[in-house]
This record gives sequence, structure tokens and C-alpha cells, in this order.
Amino acid sequence: MSYTIAVRALCEFTAKQGDLDLRFTPTPTAQEGIEGHAIVTSRRDDGYEREVSLAGDFGPLHVRGRADGYDPRQNQLEEIKTYRGDLARQPANHRILHWAQLKVYGHLLCAARGLPALRLALVYFDIGTQKETVLAEDADAATLRAFFEEHCGRFIAWAEQELAHRTARDEQLRALRFPHDDFRPGQRQLAEAMFKASARGCSLLAQAPTGIGKSIGSIFPMLKASAEHCLDKVFFLAAKTSGRSMALGAVETIKRSAPLLPLRALELAAKTTACENPDKACHGESCPLAQGFYDRLAGARAAALQLPMLDRAAVREVALAHQVCPYYLQSELVRWADVVVGDYNYYFDISAMLYSLTQMNGWKVGVLADEAHNMVSRARKMYSAEMDHVRLRVLRKTAPEALRKPLDRVHRQWSALEKEQEGAYACHAALPEKFMAALQNACSEIGDYMAEHPAWFDADVLDFYFNALLFGRLGESFGEHSLFDIEISDGGRGAAAGRVNSVLCIRNILPAPFLKQRFEAAHTVALFSATLSPWNYYADTLGMPEGSAWVDVASPFEAQQLQVHIASHISTRYQHRERSLAPIAALMGEQYQRQPGNYLAFFSSFDYMEKVAELFAARHPDVPLWRQERRMDESARDAFLARFRTGGEGIGFAVLGGSFGEGIDLPGDRLIGAFIATLGLPQINPVNEQIKARMESAFGAGYDYTYLYPGLQKVVQAAGRVIRTTSDQGTIHLIDDRFARPEIQALLPAWWQVAARNFSA
Ligand code: SF4
Repeated sequence: MSYTIAVRALCEFTAKQGDLDLRFTPTPTAQEGIEGHAIVTSRRDDGYEREVSLAGDFGPLHVRGRADGYDPRQNQLEEIKTYRGDLARQPANHRILHWAQLKVYGHLLCAARGLPALRLALVYFDIGTQKETVLAEDADAATLRAFFEEHCGRFIAWAEQELAHRTARDEQLRALRFPHDDFRPGQRQLAEAMFKASARGCSLLAQAPTGIGKSIGSIFPMLKASAEHCLDKVFFLAAKTSGRSMALGAVETIKRSAPLLPLRALELAAKTTACENPDKACHGESCPLAQGFYDRLAGARAAALQLPMLDRAAVREVALAHQVCPYYLQSELVRWADVVVGDYNYYFDISAMLYSLTQMNGWKVGVLADEAHNMVSRARKMYSAEMDHVRLRVLRKTAPEALRKPLDRVHRQWSALEKEQEGAYACHAALPEKFMAALQNACSEIGDYMAEHPAWFDADVLDFYFNALLFGRLGESFGEHSLFDIEISDGGRGAAAGRVNSVLCIRNILPAPFLKQRFEAAHTVALFSATLSPWNYYADTLGMPEGSAWVDVASPFEAQQLQVHIASHISTRYQHRERSLAPIAALMGEQYQRQPGNYLAFFSSFDYMEKVAELFAARHPDVPLWRQERRMDESARDAFLARFRTGGEGIGFAVLGGSFGEGIDLPGDRLIGAFIATLGLPQINPVNEQIKARMESAFGAGYDYTYLYPGLQKVVQAAGRVIRTTSDQGTIHLIDDRFARPEIQALLPAWWQVAARNFSA
């Protein structure tokens, strides 16, 4: 059995030493890097070979990679690195790493072509001046071989340990049995669909109802697939902390049932929560946990891999014991973990760590995305960027003197855009060239300033810088999948000078073109949720590849568990709201008198909710009620939910699509019914109307993809709070005449049986 490793990964393991240093030398964007490489290679003679694939073996090690370029006429092998700023300030350990990579490529090339010697050239390309600095040295094949063997030798003990781990892991996984006596209804169907998708190497959309045990029902088959289909890793991604905790719980259950299974499971925490020194910058001169990071990493890595579970607390404990940064230790541990649990953004975001490591190392991965109905909105946010003029105005006064000019240039271009605009909102077909050029220039200047002032740290400037970099990066791939819009807060032209403010947004509305590559890079991706209908909406907007599978797991619940009533005599349309208050309050009162207990009532807005709650309280003062507040913190949310006691009585008023419309679990008589007085349709506004137009031209389904499907998805999620187990009984009132329409009812879960006669009609 051989162990395959990329040249870069090998050198990072064996040649990286000293401080962690995330100062930005070099600082080019990915696009600038690609263009820089292209410029350098275009300057070379005919016959110059680009992206030379190379591989070689040492014992069980198989080392592979692509050298940037080889000039056979001069017998010169080149490694090209783009940078910005002062090359002399580049940390020494970066340079050592670059040389190590080049020497390994040098050996692989000599061995492949029988060369006795060659010239190695590190080509540093300055993005700003477009000048090359070439550091070259001659090397003979024997020296390069010795270098290669020495580095492989340093890695081989680790590789052998990893091979032994993998063999033991896969043996145990092949023998692994489901950790419970039996599958729950529906759970086997879900597990089989996941395993089959992995066998076919395709992606899967799985609609699977609540309560069937989706975490274990997805992780178990993917672990079995890891052994059968040679998966290197499983990534379990979730939108919320609760989903990640359930996944870690499922892994623990599996591990308890198979004590010999050497499975390494790692939880990824966000930088904001994992960072121990938020007032410091990530380099050795500022943060003590970055100082000497690579010198102490080996000890921390070895200690971490002895632990049974690498959750956030465990990683932190090991990191602090070895005085290394917990956040960057977890990034390192991804390389050696079998299961990684984290937020969606670690794989799907524009600069996602799990995705880039997968690409770089050629890993074969299975990706599980829980509560995937959130993916459309989350992915749109990942590929959008927003800039607020107010923040730039403040920065022009507080930023270092040297940065004021470039920031002023951005400000001038921005103000010109505001002056040109007639109304409060404008959507543009193209990006404003002069503004984007000024922004790019400001980024370059800030990058240079940071390189020249290593000890300098200003959180506001850095915030602006990263945001502007993202804006620029999204600008490079701007197209039909996104809008560029400007919102002026005071209505535009005519306001007093200095009072105009605007927000610029590159707003992704169709994440499919971005996510497509993410799906393609994985062996299999399974998206699952209780609400993924209609599947074509998710497949189209998320860019699921051709040939993706779809499974609708039968619900374990019986129609008689849930009474579904439609109040078709009420309209909740905006213009009918006032008229709807009394009949809604009456319907709720009737239901409550008939069957007292705990209920949730959902409305489209706080305003609507308040009006119904006030009327209901006046007419039914004996019924306890409690309301969702705007911006509730965690303890307030917990207090709201704590009122749903077993055997309790009362009505919780909430807003659809908020904290209580999904992800809460109130089984048994903690919740016996729900009133849903809205179709959940997003507001009609200029942005949504733009989305509608684009969805119409892309899929011929503008209204459905913009309003109807996202709205009904929220309704079904909220209604899903009522029946959580096969012994639950409950009632749902869908309040609006449109719920009676066949096309709306077609979007409700198949196991629901809508009452033949409408309640209270
Ligand atoms: S502890 Fe915080 S500041 Fe220090 S290296 Fe880690 S993330 Fe950066």
C-alpha cells in the first residue's frame, strides 16, 4: 500500500519552521496570482513547458505535483511566486519552503528525464511593477536526490503511521454494524441512498423527515462508503451549531459501539471563537501563539491525534498545552482527520479551507450537508459582498496618513456614483470600472503598507481591506449569476452634501456556477433536509451536477397524527390584514377552547404578530400568551422555549422564518398545534424583483423560484415543529385562502391529509 502526498504538502510538513506569519507578503488575490503566472510564462521562449506534471516514489511514499515551468533549452526549472510589497521583508521560512518545493520538483524532473543536472530558478513576480526577481542556483541530480530522500525520510515514519491508521480504520469500518438495534423507519432508506450515491460517485438530494435520525443515518453509510469506496475523508457540514453537535454526538455513538474503531473526528470552530488573542495579529511579533508555531506544531499534532475526539474544547486544550494557536492547529489537523464537522462555509465558501485542501491534496471526499434547505440563502451570502460608504468616511479620518490618498480616490469615485443615481435603488448591468480600479489600488496600497509596517494593526482598516478584497475578487467573476446594486439611504440626489450615504453590493442570486466546482471536486455530496421540495429548485439554484440522484424518504408519521385545516375564508394579504385580525383571533380561540395546550402561532412580520396578539389577549384574557421579541439573545430564546412545558398551556407568538420556525424540538404535548397566518412569501421589493427577472430568464420560473418555493419551504418547516415522534398528535391551521389552491397544496408534505371541510369556514 502506498501513501500519496502532494509536493507542497510534503514540504509543508518537513520544511516549515519558525513563526506562523499571515502578514501579506505576498498579497496578490487568486486572480492576480493566476495572471502573474501567465505573464511570466508568456515571456518565455517557444518550447517552454508549463505546468509540468511530475511524480516519484520513495519506499511507500508516492510524491506528485506540478512544477510551474521548465525551459529545456536552458535546462532551467522554475517555481513562480507572485508577491506585492518589499521582497526583502518576506519571512525567511517562506523562502525556505519555496526552495524546498523547487528542489523536490528538481529531483522528480531529473529522475523522469535522466538529467544529470539542472538550473533551479525561484521567480518572484511583483504584481505591482510586473518585474521578476530571479534567484537561481545550479544543482546536480545526486544532490537533488539526496534532498528528496532526506525530506521523504523525515516524513516516512509519519506516513507509515498514517498507513497503519488507514488500514485499521478501513478494516474496522468494513466490520462496523449500525450502532442501534435497528434502523428507524425511513432511516434505512436514507442510509441506502447515501451509500448508493457514493457507489455511483454522484451527488444526492435527500428529502428526509424529521425524527428519523438523519445525523447517524448519514454518517454511518458514509463511513461504510469510506472503506468500500476508498474515501479519504467525510465532511459533515451544517448551518447551525446544533446540527454540528448532533453530528459529533452521532460519531460518539458509533465509536462507543465499536471500541476498536480508530476514527479521528474533528470539529472546526470559527476563527472568532477559536482565537485566544483577538486583540493581536496572526504573526510571531504580535501573538505569542503564532511565535514558533511550526517549531511546536509536531508535538501538538502528535498529542492531538492520541485523543478519542477532537472537539473544540479538546483542540484548545492541546493547543494551549503546546503553546500554539488553536485555530491554526485545527486547520493542520484537518489533514489527518477522518471526519470533519463544521459550518457549510468550510467547503462551499469562496476561499473554503476544506475545498482547497481537497484540491491540493487530491483527496477523495464524501460531503454531507445537513439542513440543506438553508444552502441557497447561505451560498448567496458567501458569494456576495457589501460596502458601506459610512465606514469609508470614518476610515479616511482615522487611517494612517499614507493610506488616505488611495482611500480618498475610492471615496471620490463612490461619491460620483451616488451623484449619478436618480432614485434610492439602482441595479447595474456592469461594474463601475473607475470605482473598481480605485478600490484595487487602495487594496494594493494597504497590502504594501502592511508589508512595510509589520507591527501595525488597525482592526477597522483590516476590515475594510478584507471586504474590499472580497469585493474585488467577486468583481473578477461578475456575471449573470449576480447583481451589482447601489442603495442610497436618503433617496439620492438632492440631499444636503455629506448626508448622502450608500451601500454598494455585489449580490449573488444564483450560486450554481460557484458551487458546481465544489460538487465536482467531491466524490459524492449528499444534501439532506426535511424540506427540499421541489427538488429542481434546489438542483438548479445550487448547480447540482447532471446525474445527481434524488430520494424522498417516506415519512414515519401517519396522516391521522396530524389534523391539517385550511382557513380559506381569511386572506392575509397586506391589503386585507386589518380585516383578518378578528377572524384569526376567533379561529385561534376556538381551537384553544376545543383543545387547550401548547401552540405556536406564526406571522409574516412583528407588526402583524403584535396586532393579532393584542386582539387575542383582549378577547381571551384567560389564555397565557408570550411573544417573540426583536433581536432576542440566547437566554431570551431559551426562556421563550421553556414556556412550552409538558402539560403546559398557552400560545407562543412568533415570526415565520425567525428563530422558532425551524431547528427547535418540542416533542409530545410540549407543542400540540400551530397556526400559520402567512404563505411566507418574501417581500416584493426591487431586489426580489430583479431576482425574479433573472430566475425567469434562467429557468422560466421567476415567481416560483423567487417567492413561492422559498415561502412554502418556511411554512412546511414551521409546521414541522408539531409532529416530532410517531406518538405525537397535533393540529395545524394554515390561514389564508391561497392554501386551498391545488398548486400550493402540491408543495405540502405528501403524508399530510388536509381536512375535507375547512375549519371555521
Ligand atoms: S491566537 Fe488569534 S491572533 Fe494568535 S495566531 Fe491564533 S488566531 Fe491569530
